[in-house]
Amino acid sequence: MLTKDLAICIRAIDYSETSQIVSFFTRATGKIDAIAKGSKRPKSPFDGPIEVLSHGNIVFVDSAGEKLATLTEFQQQPALINLRNNLFVLYACLFAAELLNNLTHDYDPHPELFDSFLGFLQNANEQHSTSDQQRDILALLILFQLTLLREIGLQPILNQCANCKASLESRTTGHELYFSSNTNGLICRDCESSFPDKIRLTKKASACLVAFKQIPGSEEKTLKEIEKVLVQHLTGLLGRTPKMAKHILQG
Ligand SMILES: [Zn+2]
Repeated sequence: MLTKDLAICIRAIDYSETSQIVSFFTRATGKIDAIAKGSKRPKSPFDGPIEVLSHGNIVFVDSAGEKLATLTEFQQQPALINLRNNLFVLYACLFAAELLNNLTHDYDPHPELFDSFLGFLQNANEQHSTSDQQRDILALLILFQLTLLREIGLQPILNQCANCKASLESRTTGHELYFSSNTNGLICRDCESSFPDKIRLTKKASACLVAFKQIPGSEEKTLKEIEKVLVQHLTGLLGRTPKMAKHILQG
């Protein structure tokens, strides 16, 4: 059966001299793995070899129980070229793609997550000339990761203490909070001693996690702190450190 969908390439590996195996995150179908026969030939049916982060309309033949679908068309939208002009921007986008690949299931659609990912790439593409580029990209990346966790049903508990349920909104000024990956949420000072895996957060980072709207305006130092906590949390969820994480944290 031929299926049409809007898709973003999240992984591409060489399969033979002329073909690739690609993973697409699609809007209506979710993640698919497909063989792109002839994609590396000079007259490729897909406008040349398929690159990670390229996007557009695809047509594919469903795998019908087999592992790989077969890609028959890929009408690429103009590439988001600025993503490749700055290494940190590129790493952030590849990190987001890696997380999608590892945290979503094949044929499990998440249209809102697709829109969020495409929006993240488009916004990242537009940040190339801002003076605070790294800070702005980090803010976008953090918001994307929080959307991803929500969409896959692993939304951390951030508006109240994940243990005693005390509201944290009144505690955002002047209080340090803690994040516990095992408990999947923020922990208040009254409870923190019972959670050996907790990470202590600064007041500013605590405030951002309780109220996301503070994230875009935060300073880079605070965003790096939050990203470090997220990487630690994602590492726990995946059972290993995401490959691109080191490039994000050292940036
Ligand atoms: Zn508590």
